[in-house]
Amino acid sequence: MSASQTFVDDPDVILIGSGIMSATLAVMLKRLDPRLRIQMFEITPELAREASDGWNNAGTGHAGICELSYTPTRDQNGGVPISRALHIFEQFEHSKQFWGSMTAEGMMGEPADFIHAVPHVCFVKGTDDVDFLHARHAAMVEHHFFRGMTHTTDPSVIRQWAPLVMEGRDACPVAATTGEGTEVNFGLVARRLGGWLAQQEHCGVAAGWKVTKLRRGTGEWHVTLRCMASGEEREQRAKFVFVGAGGGSLPLLQSAGLPEVAGLGAFPVGGQWLVCDEPSVCSRHNAKVYGVADPAAPHVGTPHLDQRRLNGRCQLLFGPFASWTTRFLKHTGSWSDLPLSVRADNLTTLLRAGVHNRSLVRYLVTQGLQSMEDRMQAVRHYYPNARTEDWRLLQAGIRVQTIKKADRGAVYFGTEVFSSTDRSLTALLGASPGASVSVNIALEVVQTCLPHLLTSAEGRERMRRMIPTFDQDLKQLGNAALFEKTSREATERLQLHFQP
Ligand SMILES: Cc1cc2nc3c(=O)[nH]c(=O)nc-3n(C[C@H](O)[C@H](O)[C@H](O)COP(=O)(O)OP(=O)(O)OC[C@H]3O[C@@H](n4cnc5c(N)ncnc54)[C@H](O)[C@@H]3O)c2cc1C
Repeated sequence: MSASQTFVDDPDVILIGSGIMSATLAVMLKRLDPRLRIQMFEITPELAREASDGWNNAGTGHAGICELSYTPTRDQNGGVPISRALHIFEQFEHSKQFWGSMTAEGMMGEPADFIHAVPHVCFVKGTDDVDFLHARHAAMVEHHFFRGMTHTTDPSVIRQWAPLVMEGRDACPVAATTGEGTEVNFGLVARRLGGWLAQQEHCGVAAGWKVTKLRRGTGEWHVTLRCMASGEEREQRAKFVFVGAGGGSLPLLQSAGLPEVAGLGAFPVGGQWLVCDEPSVCSRHNAKVYGVADPAAPHVGTPHLDQRRLNGRCQLLFGPFASWTTRFLKHTGSWSDLPLSVRADNLTTLLRAGVHNRSLVRYLVTQGLQSMEDRMQAVRHYYPNARTEDWRLLQAGIRVQTIKKADRGAVYFGTEVFSSTDRSLTALLGASPGASVSVNIALEVVQTCLPHLLTSAEGRERMRRMIPTFDQDLKQLGNAALFEKTSREATERLQLHFQP
């Protein structure tokens, strides 16, 4: 999509950033109230080129099918609690429903450009993990969300699901599950939504403009901007501001001088992938295979061997590997981002986080010192016959993790919605599970900060046209039939062809 440079006078809403979060919220708001005047600003010349874009993330439609991090422990009876897996699955259903509805409305183009069906496989080895996966599957398959999930300990079956994983593997106990998953080009989703917004009456999308400061006025926010090409400065005002600037969110919140922000700190973790372009290898891996996370970094370090389909090309991705960085944004960040974010009010928070997370710090140091051969050893846990010459290292996006005073040094790798006390400003902080739950995050922002949009029957009906089950609990056993119906509808609209 070509860069857009449109401004709207007196916007009701300003969104900072054009990634999947801002783009989703902007479209949801405009569909809820077509009279809303909405302005979006993006620092880069094109929309959605940071974390949401292509290789900057893994494109996994996180639904709890293959990620062990959503079911990390056993209960006292040896069972595996699955509530977190159910929660993320339902959130991703909302995303599929929303993208399906927008596709049916004609604003997203061909769904095959941005979403594919791909099996989500969980693979483990060793007696303990094999036992755990068996218990996990037994718990999950009881629920209607995961009824289609299959489990095996038979190496020949795993070889059919993921041939590369079994080729050349020494005999040892292995197990795997497989379920109907997806791969998503989140950047393209954001650009299509942003492109639609730019064409709407009373809406503006200005790329190449950096928001440099937020200042609270009387009943409105003053947003200062700078044109990246000419250096021109402008100011715009709005009653509601959404800071969806990814890694750029914390500095903007700090500029706003909100007392609620005091003590908030952040540290960035760079990501890297190993990518394989060799067609004879790529053509033999049609799955996203997740395994056991490194205990030192459960969310940064869950390794996976993925088929990745971007721009009509099929490649393989392995990772993520963590890398050191002090930048908050890959394209427009600077080495000074981290030092400049340290203030008197967050220094203690950051130091405490360092002291309380020594194993994470050690993990990041070790990751940063790895050679190509060290990284290939990690690949070979998943693909024993991997040849070094088939792989290359690629920089992924940067996760900027927020650390709060109240967390007393604990670091959570979740996504958090931060709102000012008067609900006139909301920001998104954190990274995981990220893009997959963007629709739910937008819904939460509407419910929390702009609830008047949902008070009328018409407003709720408009939301239902976007997310048919937005006000229902699909997890409830009594809603199994409703889930089947809405899931089938979204699957058809998105033309997802799951393997039998
Ligand atoms: C290595 C890695 C792997 C990941 N894998 C997955 C995955 O498999 N599945 C998944 O669901 N999620 C994944 N994620 C998380 C996901 O990518 C992010 O949560 C999501 O893309 C965040 O979207 P966003 O819109 O908040 O941020 P972004 O996409 O980063 O968008 C923020 C935008 O704001 C702009 N901006 C910043 N500052 C300013 C400013 N001052 N003025 C104007 N514009 C500004 C930026 O240029 C950018 O375009 C992964 C993340 C990483 C780093």
